[in-house]
Amino acid sequence: MSDNCLFCKIVRGEIPVDKLYEDDEILVFRDIAPQAPVHFLVIPKKHVNSPATLAAEDEQLMGRIMRIGCEIAKQEGIDQFRAVLNNGEQAGQTVFHLHVHILGGRNMSWPPG
Ligand code: AMP
Repeated sequence: MSDNCLFCKIVRGEIPVDKLYEDDEILVFRDIAPQAPVHFLVIPKKHVNSPATLAAEDEQLMGRIMRIGCEIAKQEGIDQFRAVLNNGEQAGQTVFHLHVHILGGRNMSWPPG
């Protein structure tokens, strides 16, 4: 846990979110500024700064994050979606607590801007 991390505060229940799923190591909630009809975030409860700082011991956790993200996408009625991981400011990371964006419900363009 990191005291000043926004997503750690969400994990601790200090900031309310629209929660879609929770277990002992993962939390899923809707993005506050949705970029698609369905847009939610899948995060580990433990603080991991960014994808590039994942440790070997986090491999199973990351697999669960992806699997649960897919399950919630199905639950939200999107069988086609984009999963996004931003690593670093240049890539668009603004919250430095690892998260997978799941976006769906509209056509997506490629490459991303
Ligand atoms: P990134 O730019 O990849 O770091 O994504 C951070 C995401 O967190 C953005 O899409 C924000 O809209 C989202 N976000 C920031 N604060 C909150 C919040 N309080 N509740 C839900 N989503 C948030």
